[in-house]
Amino acid sequence: MDQTKQEEEYGYDLFPERNKGKFKKGSIAESLFTFNHKCQVMLQFAMETSPYAKLLLGAMQSSGCTVFKDRHFSCEECDGTVSGGFDAASSQIVLCQNNIHQQSHMNRVVTHELIHAFDHCRAHVDWFNNFRHLACSEIRAANLSGDCSFSNEVARFNFGLKQHHQECVRGRALRSILAVRKISRQEAEKIVDEVFDTCFNDHAPFGRIPHGNKDARFAYRDYKNRDRYYANL
Ligand SMILES: [Zn+2]
Repeated sequence: MDQTKQEEEYGYDLFPERNKGKFKKGSIAESLFTFNHKCQVMLQFAMETSPYAKLLLGAMQSSGCTVFKDRHFSCEECDGTVSGGFDAASSQIVLCQNNIHQQSHMNRVVTHELIHAFDHCRAHVDWFNNFRHLACSEIRAANLSGDCSFSNEVARFNFGLKQHHQECVRGRALRSILAVRKISRQEAEKIVDEVFDTCFNDHAPFGRIPHGNKDARFAYRDYKNRDRYYANL
């Protein structure tokens, strides 16, 4: 497979800065610096204050995959409307500094990508060749990151809450797969449906579906207390 084709099939064309050397630093260097700085500040804030992020960072540390801000996160310019990505080849989370402008959005993207990183840490995920692995992690990320929680509020009166959430998770997982892999929609739908129930019901490390910051704070509290009985012996 030639390199350009491979880059497209693995979604790397969405992240031009991943091809070091090709990226040109132009006269907009100063505004890029400002964007980059803002992205770093929002990332730091997410890591310190989001209960979703704190739980995931703690769980990864316990699993022997300590996340370091400078090593495992990278604020970059991205193409199109993508907000972030997980680069399994370098174990790095890419945050799209040109597409993330609000703290709440940053929190969601950091959480979504940390769920991929968590899956990468705990399981031997074959991101590139096994579409079922990729589909499973996308289902979990959409289900547990709050990606589908905001729209729940809007749709509450139109759908059963539970059903709407599942439909949202399925739709988001599909879109994520189609954005980074060249496969047909039909093929992607089949794969998502095959693994949906198993992966939708895998809530690790949250122990529940956190439908908002309040749920996530409870999940984080339970997570911190998980060894309490042993510690009190
Ligand atoms: Zn994803």
